[in-house]
Amino acid sequence: MAETIKIGIIICDRYKSCAGGKCFRALREREGAFERYKDKDVEIVGYTSCGGCPGGNIEYAVDEMKKNGATVIHFATGFIVGYPPCPYIEYFHDYIEKKYDIEVIYGTHPIPEKYMIMHKKLGTWKDPKWGKIIEPTVTDKKTRLSYD
Ligand code: SF4
Repeated sequence: MAETIKIGIIICDRYKSCAGGKCFRALREREGAFERYKDKDVEIVGYTSCGGCPGGNIEYAVDEMKKNGATVIHFATGFIVGYPPCPYIEYFHDYIEKKYDIEVIYGTHPIPEKYMIMHKKLGTWKDPKWGKIIEPTVTDKKTRLSYD
């Protein structure tokens, strides 16, 4: 039996009414940041929002996810593509890894092409620090278009 990876997903509260369609599709298709699980079974053991700026739920949500077996936490792609992207994303990443000794991955589903176009116009991701943040969810243009 293939190894089952248990993951928790935290979404940006701006998208709190999101039903998770793109994230669950990407997980099923193993696209974007979920490509890393292409040879593995995956179970989502937690799904919640950050709690709204400045992310009050970040401090507590992972505790519950970890108790439920999570070994990886994903920040949903909304953290990256929102206008503006979450200004605390790196802090949250480091906080969770240090506090909970758990891997944190930037992103879930592929960045939709419409966001890619707009953020290029805005120069949002020009700073080299964004390279590693957007890398798991950039994908190819055809895939990005399919997530518009
Ligand atoms: S921008 Fe960041 S802190 Fe604010 S709601 Fe979104 S994820 Fe949470």
